[in-house]
Amino acid sequence: MTPPGDFFRANKTALGLSLAALLVTVASARIFLAMREAEPIVSGPGVTAQMMLSAFNPTLANSPGDTPVYELGSDKAGAAITIIGGTHPQEIAGLLAAVLLIENATVSQGKLIVVPQANRSGFTHTDPMEAYLHAITINTPAGPRWFRVGMRLTNPVDQWPDPDVFTHMPSRENMIGHETRNLNRNHPGSETGWLTARVSHALTRIAKTSALVFDLHEAQPEYPVINMMVAHENTFETAATAQSMIQARRIPMGLAASPKNLHGLSHREFGDHAHAQSLLAETANPAMGRFRGRTSEALVVGGKDENYVRATKLGRTFAKFDDAGWPLHLRVARHLVAIEEVINAYNELHPEAPVVVDNMPSYKDVIEKGLGAFLKPPPKE
Ligand SMILES: [Zn+2]
Repeated sequence: MTPPGDFFRANKTALGLSLAALLVTVASARIFLAMREAEPIVSGPGVTAQMMLSAFNPTLANSPGDTPVYELGSDKAGAAITIIGGTHPQEIAGLLAAVLLIENATVSQGKLIVVPQANRSGFTHTDPMEAYLHAITINTPAGPRWFRVGMRLTNPVDQWPDPDVFTHMPSRENMIGHETRNLNRNHPGSETGWLTARVSHALTRIAKTSALVFDLHEAQPEYPVINMMVAHENTFETAATAQSMIQARRIPMGLAASPKNLHGLSHREFGDHAHAQSLLAETANPAMGRFRGRTSEALVVGGKDENYVRATKLGRTFAKFDDAGWPLHLRVARHLVAIEEVINAYNELHPEAPVVVDNMPSYKDVIEKGLGAFLKPPPKE
């Protein structure tokens, strides 16, 4: 028999490597599990009810797809308008615009429904090889608040494996397999089935009670659909009225029609299946682009990247980039002005059942004061 001392000497390298592997596993497991902790969102004075999305599809209860839904109601009858952030969780201007509504806005007629993290599972991971941040910090006068940065698709831990080909229903349009985890290709979803489809089904049920649904997105600066709204044909009058008001405020904003043969997207399916007016807005997020440098907090929050300044000079971007960049507060301000003018346009065209929203942070105030001025103090642990 080999004496124990000889055994350890002979296997020293193997033991050392095993120990190192164990330490890496424990450390990465801790980081992985920590991603499931959600940031605090504080209900502002206008929030009259808070529920989970599973109220609209009970199969989501206690699942990684369940996510908070905030209602800002009033005593006066009117329509309901739904604002969705976090359909794509790395497009954080949508999340922050939704949070600013929840923490500040009040409603004096009708109802606002806000879903800040539509694909909650997508906020719990980042893509391998993308070197993405897990969270960002925004300073408020009362201390720092933090927000999760996720990824475009549902966490594969929550929905796996992807099929080779994803067939969207009911259109039967075929897409690449991983789009089965893209919430904005799953609409109108289904009550049972994979997680992303069930989340979509719950959102479609909310859309069915809404006069209008506005889904907030961001895209890379080299993508043509940025600083733009995309609207279902039933929403075009509202969207064009809003666009002209936004342009009159000297804020450039494009408008495109939702293609009829592109399925699964909110601006197509909430219009077709929920019969709600439906549109989407995109801002320019350099942290999502392929030209970007290090995905630091300076890039994700500050929106500055010298590669994009060069790319603009070479004519490769659809939004102009200079040393000022596209900071997060500017992108959030753009979403807020779009929401404000879309609601104004809706009310002008539907005076019989308007949605009157007050105390929304204005474009000008957010540009001047930053996001921290409109966030509640961090809740105590
Ligand atoms: Zn998106």
